[in-house]
Amino acid sequence: MARRCRKILLIHPLGVNWVSGEKDMARIANIMPPIGLCSLASWVESKGHRADIHDCYAHPGDDHRIDHYLRTESPQFVGFTTTTSSFPDAVRIAAHIKKNYPRIKTIFGGVHLSAVPERIMREYRQIDYGVVGEGEEPLLAIMESNGAALDGVPGVLYRNAGEVVVNDLAKTRFDLDTLPFPAYEKLHGFPNEYPLPIFNYPKAPGTSVVSSRGCYYQCSYCDRSVFGQSFRYNSPDYMIDLMRYLKKRFRIRHVNFYDDLFTFKRKRVETFCQKLAAADLKMTYNCAARAEHIDRDLLRLLKQSGCWMVSLGIETGDPELLSRHRSCADLEMIRERIHWIRQAGLRVKGLFMMGLPGETEKSIDRSLKYVLSLPLSDFNLAKFTPFPGSPAYETIREHGEFDETWELMNCLNFVFVPHGFTKDQLDEHYRNFYTQYFRRPLLLASYLTMLWQSPDSWIRFVKNFRDFWAVKRAYAAKRA
Ligand code: SF4
Repeated sequence: MARRCRKILLIHPLGVNWVSGEKDMARIANIMPPIGLCSLASWVESKGHRADIHDCYAHPGDDHRIDHYLRTESPQFVGFTTTTSSFPDAVRIAAHIKKNYPRIKTIFGGVHLSAVPERIMREYRQIDYGVVGEGEEPLLAIMESNGAALDGVPGVLYRNAGEVVVNDLAKTRFDLDTLPFPAYEKLHGFPNEYPLPIFNYPKAPGTSVVSSRGCYYQCSYCDRSVFGQSFRYNSPDYMIDLMRYLKKRFRIRHVNFYDDLFTFKRKRVETFCQKLAAADLKMTYNCAARAEHIDRDLLRLLKQSGCWMVSLGIETGDPELLSRHRSCADLEMIRERIHWIRQAGLRVKGLFMMGLPGETEKSIDRSLKYVLSLPLSDFNLAKFTPFPGSPAYETIREHGEFDETWELMNCLNFVFVPHGFTKDQLDEHYRNFYTQYFRRPLLLASYLTMLWQSPDSWIRFVKNFRDFWAVKRAYAAKRA
């Protein structure tokens, strides 16, 4: 029987993505494509339906485009992907849709809905259907059944006579190589309006790619509600075909693999590197890894195949605090691996956070000393945020004050203040950390080398210099 073609508009909500009251520098530094929505769009289209995407994050203030689409295209569904901080914006748009286009059904998915599904469905009547976990199969089932016969469809939430019905997650998961390539072309202005993180790439245009799902670890600060405790991945051939396609269709020159554990399956990465080097695509890439999943031979292969930078999640330089929050908290092993990465000729970015439960003045001090002793090429310090769904969330109020304002839960605001601090004190430590890191002459000199290593970043920096300078002055004024 022929399927009836249905239409969906997929929306990436804006959310509040910067420090409350300050200019949104996050959007200047990096606009990441909503890869999950691009993947869902190509998936439903491969099944004979039609999907379009509106990205409020890349195009804030363009809500009129949503109205225009709904009036002219009359989709049956609007789907939202939500993080904790963008959820309120998605609810705002959904309320507008239910009021003005009551015939359209709204579907919510993403990490925030997956973390607290029943609570959200109970409290937000603007949402007709919820999707927990991976979106492909549940979304297709909702679209094809048009809301009827959802009983037992894995991962779907709906209402029956006003009561929220929650279906269990699917027991088996499909092969990621069966997915069509994400529909990046559905993003208005792609790739030029989606710059990668500044100073994090050698050549433009670039974009992000996800080649695996899930993670076996259980760090206290990490919510794994969507993909769970597993690890599935694309084959090396799929990854290289996707890179080739991105180059041919969008002139992409650099790829940022946005996988949590890119090197987890060593054999896959080894084969990927060998095949990529042989394919001679003349593209570069970045990846993220856990320190225990790299070795010297693998780093050599990464370098030979075009890898430019490896990011390592380190979190804190205080060994006791680290061992409270993640397994394998060996800071000397991490230091050794950072040296290996540099010796292989790769850049290395350290990812840290401040304000974890148990943080003290002493742990911040130790962390700063550790960071300053490492040969990092780049560094990021997030403000710890207890996301719903993370292990830390369950007991967070035992360890300090927690302001659960979802809009502010974006790792850029201290919504959690551990015992022994005030929020102002934490903010002061945060500013001091960045100041100490960036004021070293050698570090500043290394940014000058970016003139030839990442000229596009410098062009962006110069274009937005007034905004960067204003942020620096605001920091200095707060510290005075
Ligand atoms: S932080 Fe990284 S390693 Fe830890 S659980 Fe999350 S994805 Fe896994």
